[in-house]
Amino acid sequence: MPFSELQLQLDERAAKGILRRRRIVAGAQHTCLTVDGKQYISFCSNDYLGLANHPRIVDALKSGAERHGAGAGAAHLVSGHNISHETLENELAAFVGKPSALLFSTGYMANMGVVQALVGRDDTVFADRLNHASLNDAMQLSRATIRRYRHNDIGQLETLLRETQKGRKLVLTDAVFSMDGDRALLPELLYLCEKYDAWLLLDDAHGFGVSGSKGQGTLAHFGLDSPRIIYMATLGKAAGVFGAFVAAEKIVIETLINNARSYIYTTATPPALSFALIESLALIAQVGEWRAHLQGLITKLRNGLDGLRWALLESNTPIQPLMIGGNQAALDLSMALRERGIWVPAIRPSTVPEGTARLRITLSAAHKESDLDALIRNLHELAR
Ligand code: PMP
Repeated sequence: MPFSELQLQLDERAAKGILRRRRIVAGAQHTCLTVDGKQYISFCSNDYLGLANHPRIVDALKSGAERHGAGAGAAHLVSGHNISHETLENELAAFVGKPSALLFSTGYMANMGVVQALVGRDDTVFADRLNHASLNDAMQLSRATIRRYRHNDIGQLETLLRETQKGRKLVLTDAVFSMDGDRALLPELLYLCEKYDAWLLLDDAHGFGVSGSKGQGTLAHFGLDSPRIIYMATLGKAAGVFGAFVAAEKIVIETLINNARSYIYTTATPPALSFALIESLALIAQVGEWRAHLQGLITKLRNGLDGLRWALLESNTPIQPLMIGGNQAALDLSMALRERGIWVPAIRPSTVPEGTARLRITLSAAHKESDLDALIRNLHELAR
């Protein structure tokens, strides 16, 4: 058995500074984490509102388990579709202003399911080069023709759309780019989709709960909607629990129920999770002041790191990447911060393009001003 080849591949990754490793966190998610026995202020999590350990949601999870048990027992299309899944779907659709919604186990599976269900061999997908891996994998699986455009390059996208004469057209984009923190140019994208009769799959994993006056996400942020938009968001980030949903026209949802393989051939998530998510959704709508605090932290970080040797990418979302460049340099800085009790992950290729390794700082409404003061002070000290 060629295990030695596997070892060689891993050794190569290590030599390039891109070997992936896990760290063991003890206890619940928090801005202060105990990792391998040591305490850190964490700037790693996508728990943007600090809901992952909120007592109201934890209580709802417990009551959900008491009422509905631990597991769903079967796929949604067999006997796994519980009343709490159905209620959550209805509430999610109403919350984001779409006629209908469908729960998926994860965002990765939602993207897989939507793209594979809506397009095939004779169709074309158009994808931003910085899209999330799940959208990239989904388009490969769909067997559609793939046309990728430079990040947020609306001109290039228009050229590609104009050149495509036959079949269905589906534009894929992150709403908030997961490793860059900037937003898709939604008004321009929608204009092009209307002009060239394309659908738009918007992956709002990082906007849902955070953007919009009540946290409804990136559509609300731009004040836009269209039947052409197929909206996907995840429920394990700002919503603090687990899972994902797609919200769209009823006919699209009906098509997903019938054609999306990652929906059909998998066990439904535990109903207790949906029960907890109903509570999470109520909280998201209520915590406008937390979103305002988060926005204040974003401004504070950007002002505090102004003039630093490394620059923050242009972003006004909680994802604030500090561009370093080399893999080893990014790792070294991440390690140096860790020694000072601050945890910020180094993101390296292939997750980001070659030569653009970065520290991905993520902020949460649960951070205190003093957490940010510590990060800013330590980065300035390490830059000297
Ligand atoms: N889309 C984007 C933009 C993401 O960042 C992620 C998660 N990192 C996903 C999809 C996948 O979501 P999930 O973690 O629920 O599979």
